Amino acid sequence: MPKNTKASVVDIAKIKESTSKFIKIRCPKCKNEQITFGKTATKVDCLVCGKPLAEPTGGKSRVKARILEVLE
Ligand SMILES: [Zn+2]
Repeated sequence: MPKNTKASVVDIAKIKESTSKFIKIRCPKCKNEQITFGKTATKVDCLVCGKPLAEPTGGKSRVKARILEVLE
């Protein structure tokens, strides 16, 4: 892993504070990668297998999938 990768614990912490970013997540079940908004009012399902990847909790998203990258 390169040192300048954006997929880090720090970025996940930033999502919790400021969720108005797009994030790239990977489905833990089928490894499909897709981009979703960090702040969403609707549940996000995997486009391939339908597994729930994120669900709204009080205006923020609780992401269940692996976050690969935060898109500024
Ligand atoms: Zn999937």
